[in-house]
Amino acid sequence: MPALLQVSDLAAAYGGVQALHGVGLRVAQGEIVCVLGANGAGKTTLLRAVSGLLPVRAGRIEFDGQSLVGTAPEDIVRRGVVHVPQGRMVFTGLTVRDNLVMGGFTRPAADAKAGIERAVAYFPRLGERMKQRAGTLSGGEQQMLAIARALMSRPRLLMLDEPSMGVAPVIKDFIFDKLGEIRLQENTAILLVEQDADVALAVADRGYVLETGAVVLEGAAEGLRANEDLKRAYLGG
Ligand code: ATP
Repeated sequence: MPALLQVSDLAAAYGGVQALHGVGLRVAQGEIVCVLGANGAGKTTLLRAVSGLLPVRAGRIEFDGQSLVGTAPEDIVRRGVVHVPQGRMVFTGLTVRDNLVMGGFTRPAADAKAGIERAVAYFPRLGERMKQRAGTLSGGEQQMLAIARALMSRPRLLMLDEPSMGVAPVIKDFIFDKLGEIRLQENTAILLVEQDADVALAVADRGYVLETGAVVLEGAAEGLRANEDLKRAYLGG
């Protein structure tokens, strides 16, 4: 299958600290790919580089056959790549509805109503809380809102940074189930960064393991779940 996102030989750094070394990764149309790794492995850095929030030192990032390197973050969103950051970063002082409307900034205003209806179909709790300020929502509800806000721009690639963080276990399962549904309904590929390897590999088709800024393992999710080294390091086995 042709790659929707193709990252090759990617290097990125914070000043003198090199955070990614020669990273290669691909995501095909409609695929769910997870990136696993310990704290500080470079997972967030990888997403930030793809979404244009961090300059690329070397290497290539191609989306739908065209380079994203040097493209402004808002233009990357317009091209169809949307990043749900770690910690969700919803606009806490705005209502749920206004957060969703902001998420649709790349779309005609007339699309907002249908977008909000789609969001509520995935996450009915948001429908009950439309007029509430986002800061009053639970961690899990804020994560739902962050994902729903990202969907407002109708992404072709949805990138999620640690969606399980700070979310109660039962809500975590609900959110990961929704990712599978979103991929089918929206025909969106998903690139998922997670420390919870179990939950990520349950929904993903393929995965990559990052260690100190480099890919050390990659493969089908099923194979990774059975990998003894990975079990020891990340799956509590
Ligand atoms: P976590 O799960 O903790 O978010 P991560 O795998 O996402 O970890 P990154 O946040 O990408 O890892 O960090 C990769 C490396 O870059 C680490 O060594 C980290 O200390 C360093 N780093 C990250 N952000 C900065 C920054 N703003 N300034 C300097 N170094 C940074």
